[in-house]
Amino acid sequence: MLETQNKEISLYFLDDKPYINMTNACTNACVFCLRNQKEDVQGAKLWLEKDNITSKDVIEQINKNKDKIAKNNEIVFCGYGEPLIKIREVVEVSKYIKENFPDIKIRINTNGHANAIHKKNVVEMLSPYIDTISVSLNAQNEEMYNKISQPKIENAYEEVKRFIRACVEAKIKTIASVVDKVPDYQIDIKRCEVIAKSLGADFRARDFIKNGY
Ligand code: SF4
Repeated sequence: MLETQNKEISLYFLDDKPYINMTNACTNACVFCLRNQKEDVQGAKLWLEKDNITSKDVIEQINKNKDKIAKNNEIVFCGYGEPLIKIREVVEVSKYIKENFPDIKIRINTNGHANAIHKKNVVEMLSPYIDTISVSLNAQNEEMYNKISQPKIENAYEEVKRFIRACVEAKIKTIASVVDKVPDYQIDIKRCEVIAKSLGADFRARDFIKNGY
């Protein structure tokens, strides 16, 4: 049994489906981000007070919930922050899941900044384990992206598009996503879809839901 002192909850369930929340940190400050609205999603408190979750912590929580997890066909890295800021931990946990739950697919929801953050192609580290990656394209151009996502890195929109293409090239099922109907921010959905397809990705638009998930 792995021993850990960290009691922060990184594994949570929504409608009995498992999610992993690695960090609060993010290189965006999206206008629609749930972090701006509340500290829980359907009762799951996602704000990590210490924000020092390790892969051992997550694996321990996975083991404690293995029967519940085994009833699912997918587990998702998604939470109040950007999971790929903790790339090493995501890879370690994903490897563990693949070795111990071979029938469960792994998805990551990401802002697409990881290669810029780590200054290398981290997609190569992910591709052995990750089945699906959903990347927040968020807008049809840099100007709108900067308004909606308020990135803290340079050339973020171009970085996101490059990241999407890198995931496609690594043969990970890649979805470029946008949030529609955000109050005061009307994006061009058709144009976003054309960009997603041009990068080789699938496209998904979901409507903004206040206090939703
Ligand atoms: S990328 Fe995700 S976690 Fe980061 S600010 Fe945007 S919605 Fe929130």
